[in-house]
Amino acid sequence: MVQAPRFISLVAGRAEGATPRVAFEAALRAAGLGQVHLLPLRAEESPLIPPGTRFEPLHEPPIPQLAPVALARVESATPGETIAAAVAAGLGPEGRGLVRTGHARGAPAAELERALRLEVEEAFRAHGWPLHELHSCSVEHAVERQGCAVAAAVLWEEPAAVEEARWVTEAWTPHTHCRFKIRDHLYRARTPFQRLDVVETVEFGRMLLLDNAVQTTERDEWAYHEMLAYVPLFAHPKPRRVLIVGGGDGGLLRAALAHPDVERVVQVEIDREVVEAAKRYLPSISRGAFDDPRVELVFQDAFEYLETVKGLFDVALLDTTDPIGPAVKLFTSEFYGRVARALGGEGVAAAQCGSPWFQPDVIRGAIRAMRACFPLARLYLGFVPTYPAGLWAFALGTRGRDPLAVPADELQERFAPLRGRTRYFTPEVFRAAFALPPFVAELSA
Ligand code: SAM
Repeated sequence: MVQAPRFISLVAGRAEGATPRVAFEAALRAAGLGQVHLLPLRAEESPLIPPGTRFEPLHEPPIPQLAPVALARVESATPGETIAAAVAAGLGPEGRGLVRTGHARGAPAAELERALRLEVEEAFRAHGWPLHELHSCSVEHAVERQGCAVAAAVLWEEPAAVEEARWVTEAWTPHTHCRFKIRDHLYRARTPFQRLDVVETVEFGRMLLLDNAVQTTERDEWAYHEMLAYVPLFAHPKPRRVLIVGGGDGGLLRAALAHPDVERVVQVEIDREVVEAAKRYLPSISRGAFDDPRVELVFQDAFEYLETVKGLFDVALLDTTDPIGPAVKLFTSEFYGRVARALGGEGVAAAQCGSPWFQPDVIRGAIRAMRACFPLARLYLGFVPTYPAGLWAFALGTRGRDPLAVPADELQERFAPLRGRTRYFTPEVFRAAFALPPFVAELSA
């Protein structure tokens, strides 16, 4: 027996395109339905489809994307029946829903949407099916050109499956996962180095993920970037030349460039595609930093880049992915040795190194490696809500003074140009960050 779908999204839009299918897909994307999973659909799949209904599959083999929807254009002499047919067909063995186009060239999208909504309601009434949910929206493209008029009903049989597609999940451990509800999946790619995703989350704004690990979000990026940039930059007495390793989202670069002493930054990032995606989808994080004339951007493995560099920098900021994939060797004493050699006289380096709750071994390894390469190394802490458990450890190594010996009045004086422009870091937070609860302190013992 055919069961009624429980969830319906109704979208309408107008878009131009070389073919009706291209226009149709463009409108779906514009209406926020970019993640359709296209399945072939055949009229013979349901006995409820009225005779004379014409199906035209818009896409053949299924694309492995998120939300399962069967997509076809359906035309019939009786519009209400077309929707009923669509529902029925969408409940066939392969499909979980269906998208229908309306052809009303020139009609405003909102009108198409209203008409389609009425059709859906009418069809459901006629079949005695309960209509649990019906979401609708309409979108119009600015450019009006001949193309497919697009109104679509997306009929979901399984709200759970749809719901699942609207979350990204990061495994903090095999047994503890964190889920973020998303509005849209803006970009996905497999680069030569890693999988890259940009999503629009409901609570944290846009989010960058690499290999399914959260890298940064619009809402909390500053908490992390200010702590990774300003603690070492204020620990050093005059940080003019800065090295950034990784940091492809550009948030750390932006923070470093805002420091009044910084005259030049070399950023070494292995993956050009991260920078390109960040510029395009996360401009609020880098805020033009990549175009600053003080910046030299090098696309290279930082381990290789540092092989021959000596005494070029005052401060090194290590904003790398967790020790997996291309970043594994960036957590070794061999790499920290190269970083130390790249620094001049009173050089300071800082690295993000993980969650004291979930990655104690990574932190232990990082602080040991730092200590092996610098006369003094200390852990300090920040808080970044979207990182595992929030509490985050950084390892600082210095060839100059102990950060705890930086005089309070010096900190206040040098911080003055940044006052009111930071949201996490202050001279007081600088000091407090080195106060470690015993369970963290013992990681650096
Ligand atoms: N704060 C972040 C986190 O959550 O771990 C790191 C952000 S940033 C996007 C990390 C960057 O390090 C990525 O863009 C990645 O491509 C880069 N990276 C990884 N391995 C690298 C290597 N060997 N050399 C240079 N950059 C590297």
